[in-house]
Amino acid sequence: MKTNTICVQGGYTPGNGEPRQIPIIQSTTFKYDTSEDMGKLFDLEAEGYFYTRLQNPTNDFVAAKIAQLEGGTAAMLTSSGQAANFFALFNICGAGDHIVASSSIYGGTFNLLSVTMKRMGIDVTFVDADASVEELNKAFKPNTKAVFGETIANPALTVLDIEKFAKLAHDHGVVFIIDNTFATPVNCRPIEWGADIVTHSTTKYMDGHGAGVGGAIVDSGNFDWMAYADKYPGLCSPDESYHGVTYVKDFGNEKAFITKCTAQLMRDLGSVQSPQNAFLLNLGLESLHVRMKRHCENGLAVADYLSKHPKVSYVNYASLPGNKYYNLAQKYFPDGGCGVVSFGLKGGRDAAEIFMKNLKIAAIETHVADARTCCLNPATSTHRQMTDKQLEEAGVPAELIRMSCGIEDKEDLIADIDQALAKCEG
Ligand SMILES: *Cc1c(COP(=O)(O)O)cnc(C)c1O
Repeated sequence: MKTNTICVQGGYTPGNGEPRQIPIIQSTTFKYDTSEDMGKLFDLEAEGYFYTRLQNPTNDFVAAKIAQLEGGTAAMLTSSGQAANFFALFNICGAGDHIVASSSIYGGTFNLLSVTMKRMGIDVTFVDADASVEELNKAFKPNTKAVFGETIANPALTVLDIEKFAKLAHDHGVVFIIDNTFATPVNCRPIEWGADIVTHSTTKYMDGHGAGVGGAIVDSGNFDWMAYADKYPGLCSPDESYHGVTYVKDFGNEKAFITKCTAQLMRDLGSVQSPQNAFLLNLGLESLHVRMKRHCENGLAVADYLSKHPKVSYVNYASLPGNKYYNLAQKYFPDGGCGVVSFGLKGGRDAAEIFMKNLKIAAIETHVADARTCCLNPATSTHRQMTDKQLEEAGVPAELIRMSCGIEDKEDLIADIDQALAKCEG
């Protein structure tokens, strides 16, 4: 099936007389006839459901659709994008380990790595993703367990050279994890370019309507864990908390990562997505392919308009000719990447404030990648914990405005921007 069809029909195939739409299984628990039946589930000897903190059928249908969309072998939903990135990394990293991450990533993930995971004893080296391979090689240590980046970084809108990063990670015998939130599998499928694990904040385009916070992790099934068994003992040696299950041996490369992540991290940390939210997420997925087209069309039109406006000092939109990442964008997402455009005004931070205040269609929101156009100044909101130097490094200078173009009419969006810019000084 092609992407457009998977968006609509993937993950769930009802049998004769069964519900056409994915049913919301609003149940914390599942009933069994014998303790023996249930025991097999606890020992991971049989597949099935016993408690929604670990698995729920609604979530699994939706996760299966996302796995299909990304071209992966297994997937799971999490309560948020933050949980997805944390689980994806923590599933293979522990105290004493090290991660190499692009410095151009979402502020929440930057904090997760630089503050919270550091407190757990996991070290991180942030790299300039555009640096040469020789330079990037220097970031690796014997205890490096993962390389992390974002397809299109939020909010810097830098484009990751996925093939370069996949090769870099694999040359060091390390897993490459990529957050594909902004591009979505409609526009880019990182697994086809060598990514091992793909994560999502489904809160964004996948949900698409600002209805439910959520996340997803997809495994490509391609990483050969046993070839690096010393590096990934959690996957390659027995788990005593499950009577000696060895994830790679018992579930194969296709399912080992997601099974371990569910069995250990969901069990112990419990960041499960509610089945209600999974249902809403699926409604979003059903139109993802249609919406992404419009988001990209509007994004390009707005970026083009802004780039010609005398009060605008710069525009970042990878699919706009002349952008630093234009060639990478054409390679990885020729049909467009996302609807998010960022730009600076010649009047700096003050002009940004006046501009945003005067917008009538575009609302000021922390949110992004939504059907409704919204905007934000990251330096005073999502990234306010960062110093000016860190903001520069993250590609988010203090005056930057991030505008997430929705699926309204592009002429209305441009007219709104035009009248708000008219209120700003030179
Ligand atoms: C929003 C976002 C996250 C965090 O997701 P939540 O669902 O808000 O927890 C992670 N990565 C990227 C790229 C994001 O845009």
